Amino acid sequence: MCYLLDVTGLRDKVVLVTGANGGIGRCLAAEFARAGAVVVIASRNEAKLQALADRLKSDGGRVLPSRCDVTEREQLAALGAIIGERAGTVQILINNAGIAPASAFLEMSDSIWNEVLRVNLTGTYNCCKTFLPGMIDSGWGRIINIASTAAKVAYSRVSAYTASKHGVLGLTRSLALETARLQVTVNAICPGYVDTELTRENARRMAQRTGKSIDEILKLFAESSPQKRLIAPEEVAGLALMLASEKAGGITGQAINVDGGAVMV
Ligand code: NDP
Repeated sequence: MCYLLDVTGLRDKVVLVTGANGGIGRCLAAEFARAGAVVVIASRNEAKLQALADRLKSDGGRVLPSRCDVTEREQLAALGAIIGERAGTVQILINNAGIAPASAFLEMSDSIWNEVLRVNLTGTYNCCKTFLPGMIDSGWGRIINIASTAAKVAYSRVSAYTASKHGVLGLTRSLALETARLQVTVNAICPGYVDTELTRENARRMAQRTGKSIDEILKLFAESSPQKRLIAPEEVAGLALMLASEKAGGITGQAINVDGGAVMV
């Protein structure tokens, strides 16, 4: 028996990971590259992107780094053209770019509200608008939105983030209905606290506000999960690989939690 078969069907597929410079994005890129996909990594910081691309290439990955801000439709159109020329049609879109500044509602500036909605929700919308037509034309596609448990339940001091992620879930479900007969699936992954820079930055801010240490705050985050631990980026990437695989064609419009059992809806 041969165990080197491409069981996921991901080999040679073109996947776009937005927000690739962050903890989850880097891991998504590495796992899809390992599965044999051609991985386009997009984020705003070009130096970090290049460093990530160099690392993945030295591990044998096929990677195309391209600077892109998901809030800018022209940049996405340009990215689409570059990918079209150098790799082909984006078949798997992972909307992962996101920001999560914390603030009490009445202290939150309008600019924080607008920016969080612009990156997390409109950024996801922009990428779907840009890359869904190619999937429909080619008769196969996967859209995976990295939402959050905050897409399903509320947390205080992150009203903009919670609203944006609830919006991502609504978009996921609606788009899943519209693409249901077009061989395209649209799903969301809802992680709990993942061990990344984003979580550490929020822990740092919360530590400043409460007088606790960063480690104490990270422990509180971990203990909010029945498994009493943070989620590893690899666990999010593992679910993304499954949702992107050939055999997941019947899964659409779903929002799957990776949170150690913290949220059960
Ligand atoms: P990070 O902050 O580590 O990474 C996010 C990355 O997104 C950054 O590296 C940034 O890179 C990029 N980014 C930010 N704004 C834009 C933009 N406008 N256009 C393109 N890229 C952008 O976060 P995580 O890896 O932890 O989070 C990834 C996703 O997972 C987010 O959507 C987040 O909401 C979600 N999530 C995270 C959880 C966690 O606990 N960490 C829990 C639940 C969900 P650059 O500056 O180079 O653009």
